[in-house]
Amino acid sequence: MAEKIKLINDDGLRTDGRKPDELRPIRIEAGVLANADGSAYLEWGANKVLVAVYGPREAQPKYLQDPMKAIVQVNYNMAAFSSEERVRPGPNRRATEISKITAEALENVIITNNFPRASIDVFIEVLEADAGTRCAGLTAAAVAVADAGIPMTDLVAACAVGKADGQLLLDLGKKEDNFGEADMPIGIAPRTGDIVLLQMDGDMTQEEMRKALRMGMDASRKIHELQTDALRRRYAVNFADMDDGEAVQ
Ligand code: ADP
Repeated sequence: MAEKIKLINDDGLRTDGRKPDELRPIRIEAGVLANADGSAYLEWGANKVLVAVYGPREAQPKYLQDPMKAIVQVNYNMAAFSSEERVRPGPNRRATEISKITAEALENVIITNNFPRASIDVFIEVLEADAGTRCAGLTAAAVAVADAGIPMTDLVAACAVGKADGQLLLDLGKKEDNFGEADMPIGIAPRTGDIVLLQMDGDMTQEEMRKALRMGMDASRKIHELQTDALRRRYAVNFADMDDGEAVQ
């Protein structure tokens, strides 16, 4: 059994000084890679994530092609240097799972019907990991897909809500993730409020679950603002380039 440590102090603050419903600082930049069709870089607390998107392009090998719509393929990878603990390079069960759930979440917002037989390929590289990388990866991936100019009905903003010392906490940090009682990553399409990713590790009561979903919804609205702001900044740069008569990327 995990060793018991105190995760909420007498003032109700968490080990990193945050309030229970406070996100770690998030910074997002869109269009950071010249060789990808779309890209994004995201820092979320001590997490650092880089995402490259290619496509829509012909799905290869051909048997993967869907004559009715594009497929979305995601490759989530933790860099060998991304954690204090030793990270074994290459695919593993966890990376395969995160790739799958991220692709399924993105399929909810990408208008795949527009691109039969195509593939939209999303590469998520976790450069530094400090809990919450699947949410960070999905949040950055949505920005990178939009940056690629791929039509979408919405973005996806993701954040985990968990429980530690019997209290609901937004955006679990590493200690809270390791020693807490529950971890529930939530991915939300902020415009419609649709839940496109929901996982649960641990236990919550029904009432806690309802409250956790509300916390996730509120967080998704804040994250969505940062996502759209990153895309706006990206296009503002391009308009400035146009004024100078330079080529637009
Ligand atoms: P998430 O990153 O989405 O919270 P997990 O709950 O599986 O996913 O992992 C929590 C954290 O544990 C990760 O963010 C990372 O800091 C660390 N971690 C996970 N897998 C590994 C690994 N194979 N090697 C080293 N650290 C890892």
